[in-house]
Formats: sequence, C-alpha cells, structure tokens
Amino acid sequence: MKYRIYPVLAGHFTVTFNMENFPSFPGINNIPSYLFLLVDENGDAIVVDTGFDIDNIPGIDSHGTCNINGQIPDLIRQAGIKPEDIKKIILTHMHWDHTCGIHFFPEAEIYVQAGEIDCLFTLMDNEEISFNPGHWFKRLDSFTLLNGDTSILPGVEVIRTGGHTPGHQAVKIQCENRSVMLIGDLPFSYEWLWTHLPGQYWKKFRDLKGKNFYWKNELLPDIKRWYRSKKITPDKNLKDLTTKDVRSMADLLVFSHEKNLEEKKYL
Ligand SMILES: [Zn+2]
Repeated sequence: MKYRIYPVLAGHFTVTFNMENFPSFPGINNIPSYLFLLVDENGDAIVVDTGFDIDNIPGIDSHGTCNINGQIPDLIRQAGIKPEDIKKIILTHMHWDHTCGIHFFPEAEIYVQAGEIDCLFTLMDNEEISFNPGHWFKRLDSFTLLNGDTSILPGVEVIRTGGHTPGHQAVKIQCENRSVMLIGDLPFSYEWLWTHLPGQYWKKFRDLKGKNFYWKNELLPDIKRWYRSKKITPDKNLKDLTTKDVRSMADLLVFSHEKNLEEKKYL
C-alpha cells in the first residue's frame, strides 16, 4: 500500500524561561509543530502524533499560536478526512506537543512503545512537566503497546529509536516514489534543559499551572496498574538510535518541528 503524507501544522509555540541568573538560557522560539495525516490509495487515513494545546505549554512565560486556518479537526476535514474516521494514531513519543490532540480522534487505536509508558515511573522531577497524561489517561483502553520495530499496516512500520525519550519511535511510510520516515523529535535532546533549569523552577511552574502538571500523585498509580496488567517488559537490550543511524533507512527524513513544511501540500 502507498500513502500520501499531509503535514498538518497545529501551530507555533515559544517556550520561555523567565529566570534571573540564567541570562544565557536558550529560548525555544516560534517552533512549528506538526502532526501528519497519512492517506492510503483507498482514501483511508491514520495520523502520526496529534499536536499541542496552547494552554498546556511548559514554562512560566510560554505561549503559542494555533494555525490560522483552523483547529486540528478543521484542518483534518480540510484534507477531506473526518476525524472520527481515523482508526489509528501512532505516537512518536508522549511529550505534551505530540499527545494533546488525542481527544480529537475518538475512534482511534493508539500505538505507542511500551518503553514510553514504562519511563513514566522513573521520571526526574524536571521531566514530569513534559508529559501530560491528563490528555490521554481516559483513553488507556485504546492503547496498543509495542515492543521494538513492527509493522502497523502494509506500508507503515515503526522503528523504535529511543534517544529523545526512552520509547521514542520513528514511522517509516511507503509513498508513491519513495520512502519517508517521520522521525518525531529524534534530533532533540532535553539534557540541556535539565542542566540549565533547577528543580525549584519547575516546582514554581507547577504551582502556578496546577493540576495538569501535577499528575504523578493523581494519575500515576492507575497508569501503573493498567500497565502492569499488560504484562509487557520493554526490551532493555534495544540500542538507542540517532538521526544519523536512521538516515539510510528511508529516502526522506522529516522532523516534527521542521521549518517551512506547510509549503508542501503533501510529501
Ligand atoms: Zn516535539
């Protein structure tokens, strides 16, 4: 099966850290954020990632803008697909800017690496704010946990990369004349973020923003119970891959925050 890949621009976000004593801190400014609609030869579609929500961006002075052409469901409809007809979502990973739109696809089964759930139980305090289980917790029954590389549909396979997050995965898609790999946030490392911002900053941030960012006590026990019932252990022997490692695996690599992708109607 061959696919057309429609990049859907959810919007742009700026993550700012207004910290005295951290003048050299690199801001993350006006970053485009995409989800991807994959439409096959029969007109059936699935999505890779689900976009972000401007009210849930980590960082005290962070802000964002939505796509001027509409909200995510409008954009999906503009491509000729009804959101309720989407039966599968593949998540490259579970950070806030990839999972917040899950509720727009109520009929979809959600495919994620087991390692991505597993990592939630051992997060550093700083990492907690990058995940937003409040946006997907109620959909746990629709999750399919993957353990390494696997085929999702003819022409669509996932490659577990790790790296950016422990269960990060790339998605390789067969298109008309070439293969395309959606590499999620593989080129990004968060190490610099954790080393530049002290724990007190995130505590202050969580106190200001409240519940969605204080999910460990409230949601984690139930997530753990559900996860254990699945009896899956992520393969610890899987080697993490870098962008360079996956470069030869497809004709074109596409990053989730690629600049100027909206100029292309489809890939
Ligand atoms: Zn991202």
